[in-house]
Amino acid sequence: MSSGKSKLYFTFGPENATFKARIEELSGENIDLCFQCGACSSGCPLTQEMDLLPSTVIRYAQLGMEEALDSKTIWICITCFNCEVRCPRGIDIANVMEALRQIVLRKKYDKVALDDLTPEELRELPQIAIISNLRKLTA
Ligand code: SF4
Ligand code: SF4
Repeated sequence: MSSGKSKLYFTFGPENATFKARIEELSGENIDLCFQCGACSSGCPLTQEMDLLPSTVIRYAQLGMEEALDSKTIWICITCFNCEVRCPRGIDIANVMEALRQIVLRKKYDKVALDDLTPEELRELPQIAIISNLRKLTA
């Protein structure tokens, strides 16, 4: 990703292209349409809880940056579609969030081991995390 000399440099390498293609395959979205207007982020009701704005997640996806997988944002998103209706390029951002969750969940570890959670923890967990865990079994 980086040239090694400065974080100001970014090289779009084969690994970035592969990651980006995976996101587009799973989401069905053409993320290159995004021109970073920020309308999605301005309409999202949960940005205060997020570590990356939705528009930033889309930018990471465009650049094929796997750092997007470490973001809290993909687990905070509640798939409310406020962003989609505001996007002037017709991108369904929630689909991109779901694709990123699926990539995490299809790795060889569980982000959330549902069987190990107490009833109290299950009540606190974002619903989308539970849904995504269950989808993994059928996707
Ligand atoms: S779908 Fe997710 S990212 Fe979009 S506005 Fe709703 S919570 Fe925010
Ligand atoms: S609203 Fe659409 S075009 Fe604007 S930053 Fe968000 S995803 Fe990109």
